[in-house]
Amino acid sequence: MNKKKTRVGVIGAGHLGKHHIKHLASHGEIEFIGAFDKNKSALNKVCEEFSVKALESIDQLIFQCDAVNIVTPTDTHFDIAKKFLDNKKDVLIEKPITNTVEEAQSLIDLAKKNGCIIQVGHIERFNPTINKLKNFIKDPHYIEIERLAPFQSRGTEVPVILDLMVHDIDLVLEIVSSPIKNIHASGAKMMSNTIDLAHAHIKFENGVVANLKSSRISQNYVRKIRTYQNNLYSITDLMIPQIEVYSLEKSNLFTEKVISKNVDAGGQEKMLYYEKFSPEKKDALLEEINNFIKSIKTRKSPNVSGEDGKKALEIALQIENKIFLNE
Ligand code: NAD
Repeated sequence: MNKKKTRVGVIGAGHLGKHHIKHLASHGEIEFIGAFDKNKSALNKVCEEFSVKALESIDQLIFQCDAVNIVTPTDTHFDIAKKFLDNKKDVLIEKPITNTVEEAQSLIDLAKKNGCIIQVGHIERFNPTINKLKNFIKDPHYIEIERLAPFQSRGTEVPVILDLMVHDIDLVLEIVSSPIKNIHASGAKMMSNTIDLAHAHIKFENGVVANLKSSRISQNYVRKIRTYQNNLYSITDLMIPQIEVYSLEKSNLFTEKVISKNVDAGGQEKMLYYEKFSPEKKDALLEEINNFIKSIKTRKSPNVSGEDGKKALEIALQIENKIFLNE
């Protein structure tokens, strides 16, 4: 049987859009219709590089596609996604889903009404290092995440909370299954017109604390996750990538490197295990796109739904408001 392939296009051919185009242009399970960007010269350059069609307008894509990847700045997500959803097209919207919770809810309602899929580009859900880490985080007491980057003007149309911290908010909401009790936050504008540096202290009702630090004023890229739970401390460096674990019980999850020594654990001699693991490198964006294509075909919710995107946005905006209140 000659089953018709899903027809997909991309809006936005900038820094990240180029990678969406690259993956979709060579994807065996879809028909790639083409890309549109309001910056014609950038669009033509990328389309030439991957030998794909440069489209004339958003409407040209709407009438030819079943689904779209929206990879434009956040303040354009709502208007562009609404156009596609109005025309019953599935959408993968880059993170953060929209600028406001009301916009996110309105897209979710529209998708429901028109039977469409919304996926949000919280790419860390597809990061093999983080997925490995999740295997042994059981009842953490404390989670610390640092996400720092050298300054660049790209992305500064939104505060660093929506640009970088939103990844970690989504991660923490996925790991900790409890309502939030309270949030404390501080931050500063330094180079751009929006907040460039933010610290958030999120306390959940079950007692778990998440301490998030995001900055785009940094000498180097830093992506570190530390988790603390009974008898186990983990340090994950997403830049290497590598997971290190100190634990009073051997995890049996790692085989790469295990060192043990006797330690005094509160008056009792115990064996402390140090284990190190370097997960396989996978292209998380391709995994995310594969998940979208699977959802389009099966009509099942993707790993990161519109609702997930809205929840992360909601907390991100609360953090931003707390910072404004402290100013
Ligand atoms: P960018 O500025 O490099 O590219 C955005 C492109 O969109 C530009 O080429 C611009 O001309 C185009 N554009 C703007 N408005 C448009 C419109 N109305 N119609 C058509 N094209 C339009 O930005 P970027 O870094 O590629 O970021 C794009 C999106 O991806 C943002 O939402 C950002 O938060 C997200 N992003 C996600 C990750 C991640 O890790 N998941 C990483 C980087 C960026």
